[in-house]
Amino acid sequence: MKKITVAIDGYSSCGKSTIARQLAHYAGYTYVDTGAMYRAVALFMMQDSRCRTDNPVADLIPLLPQINIGFALQPDGSQHTILNGRDVENEIRGLEVGSMASQVSPVKEVREYLVAQQQRMGAQKGIVMDGRDIGTVVFPDAELKLFLTASPEVRAQRRFRELQLKGADPVFADVLADVNDRDWRDTHRKESPLRQAADAVVVDNSQMTPEEQMKVVIGLFNKAAGV
Ligand code: C5P
Repeated sequence: MKKITVAIDGYSSCGKSTIARQLAHYAGYTYVDTGAMYRAVALFMMQDSRCRTDNPVADLIPLLPQINIGFALQPDGSQHTILNGRDVENEIRGLEVGSMASQVSPVKEVREYLVAQQQRMGAQKGIVMDGRDIGTVVFPDAELKLFLTASPEVRAQRRFRELQLKGADPVFADVLADVNDRDWRDTHRKESPLRQAADAVVVDNSQMTPEEQMKVVIGLFNKAAGV
């Protein structure tokens, strides 16, 4: 069976990584969460003592070659993000790192550095990659492009529950404001703003169960891969 490239883009907290992970498992493909890569860069900047001036993003740019990001497969099938040899999976998932990620992600040098790595990871196809610019910039020739969306309230509700499950005590209004802020930043930035590729299939999952959504996505995958 021919291997294809699957690009999944969409707003924050609309379930991209869940569907991407499940599809990769179904297809026997590699899954790459590019949001985790931007989060890891943000965490590096927040923790490195050389990024302490009034403009930490400018401090970060010359340090980019020192940032090594990888993924380690866990026995339960999940993946953990590794930053310079350290498992940072839990650290990168908080609201603060997410918000910082959407502040470093507009920076041209950061994008160029990460996009080049992502293109190398997918050079052999057989990959499901999720993010904001996968179908438009990273793999414009992907055989299957999905654009996931859901209403801001539904996404904030999901993120709220996720944070609660992790033991945090979030305030719903803050989570919703964060979702709206991130949408605005992701769609209005100059470098690779989030937008739907002309040939992407839109999947609005506001009213779908995860199972319904998976059925739709598997149908699209089988068609694109010629299964
Ligand atoms: O998907 P996630 O919420 O983990 O992404 C964190 C941030 O990284 C996003 O808000 C976005 O600004 C940025 N991002 C990006 N391009 C990608 C993936 C994520 O700009 N391909």
